Amino acid sequence: MNAVRTAIVIGGGIAGPVTALALRKSGIEATVYEAYRDTADGVGGTLMVAPNGLDALGLVGVDLTGIGQPIRSMVMTDGGGRRFGTFSGLADAPPSLVTWRADLYRVVRERAEALGVPVVYGRRLVGVEEAADGVSARFADGTEAAADVLVGADGIRSTVRTLIDSAAPAPQYTGLLGFGAYSKYDVPGAAADAMYFAFGKRAFLGYWPVPGGGTAWFSNLTHAESLTAQEARATPSAEWMRVLREKVAGDVPGRDLLRGTGDDELLSIGGMEILPPIPRWHRGRMVLVGDSAHAPSPSSGQGASLAAESGVQLARCLRDLPDVGTAFAVYEQLRRERVEKVAAYAAKTNGQKSMGPLATTLMTLLMPLATRTFMKPEKMFGWMHRHRIDWDQTVSATSGHE
Ligand SMILES: Cc1cc2nc3c(=O)[nH]c(=O)nc-3n(C[C@H](O)[C@H](O)[C@H](O)COP(=O)(O)OP(=O)(O)OC[C@H]3O[C@@H](n4cnc5c(N)ncnc54)[C@H](O)[C@@H]3O)c2cc1C
Repeated sequence: MNAVRTAIVIGGGIAGPVTALALRKSGIEATVYEAYRDTADGVGGTLMVAPNGLDALGLVGVDLTGIGQPIRSMVMTDGGGRRFGTFSGLADAPPSLVTWRADLYRVVRERAEALGVPVVYGRRLVGVEEAADGVSARFADGTEAAADVLVGADGIRSTVRTLIDSAAPAPQYTGLLGFGAYSKYDVPGAAADAMYFAFGKRAFLGYWPVPGGGTAWFSNLTHAESLTAQEARATPSAEWMRVLREKVAGDVPGRDLLRGTGDDELLSIGGMEILPPIPRWHRGRMVLVGDSAHAPSPSSGQGASLAAESGVQLARCLRDLPDVGTAFAVYEQLRRERVEKVAAYAAKTNGQKSMGPLATTLMTLLMPLATRTFMKPEKMFGWMHRHRIDWDQTVSATSGHE
């Protein structure tokens, strides 16, 4: 039984409220502090929650049934719309769900608030004071808060990460900018529960049919420097659309999907970044969860799912282990190998999105053979999607070594 009774959770994205809910379930009182005043800030676009993420969210009572669209298979096509690979989900796991990011954020925060977990908006962490028996947070508005531990769930550009280790590596730009939009075009023959990955001659496009009509799509452009979402939006979306239309001009259905999208409907997400493995996940009474500790490339479709898993595992460790240092160390042991394996897998997928025409042609030629032989869904996703956390199992000091 741990002596921790209270926690400050910095960040009201996904990891923050999920961790706070899991801490509450462990008997620890947690308050979430979110920098933005407005809950919708910077959370445009869509994201996929994989079966492992759905399971971790379920452990804290977050149910996405009403907001997510099930995706049962992933279909790879070439620039002419010809299929060259199909990956079905695991037969014994629920389908992944694709959802609007804003909906996912809303649902986890609503769940936290419904269970009495306070979420305080407009509090940007700027510093901490550490003591032997507690930690206090200093916010940009001059206010402070104190607790037994402080959890940094403050995203890929985490302040807590640099407070733990001022030399921590910074996020790295993948060389790709992200874009997404809705098109009123319906792709003939597209299955309602499939996500399509179209590798065109000059651009990659992902898409899926939206219930009620039309198609959601996302794409990337290679770009020398990274841009924040705000910087990307400083370029008129008509200009980005012009470049994207040019890139998919010879591709089916990319050409038609972009024709069916109004210029002002494009969402520029900015540079896609990954966090390289960081040496320190915790120090003293401070610890990291979610993107602040491990942000795989968005291509993994695992960022939110891993964030939920980490929040739940941290709470189990604080519930069962005798002191803060041991709890944080075992939490890191339970998580590090898995999140780094997902990140390495995602890095490969990113490479495919920025392939040149020759490499794309080779991939479309080799993939049918590969999918019949070694590229089986079980082998590719089984280890990632089948991961389940046993909430009731007691964590011991050696749990991370099992
Ligand atoms: C384009 C794109 C597509 C993606 N697609 C997918 C996908 O399909 N599937 C998937 O699982 N993941 C996807 N991801 C990744 C996913 O969005 C993240 O992994 C997930 O949001 C991580 O949650 P988090 O709570 O750790 O961080 P965030 O969601 O970034 O939340 C961090 C929160 O902390 C707040 N904050 C920051 N600094 C401070 C501070 N100093 N004080 C107080 N609050 C602060 C922020 O305002 C924010 O609300 C995608 C990401 C991008 C960019």
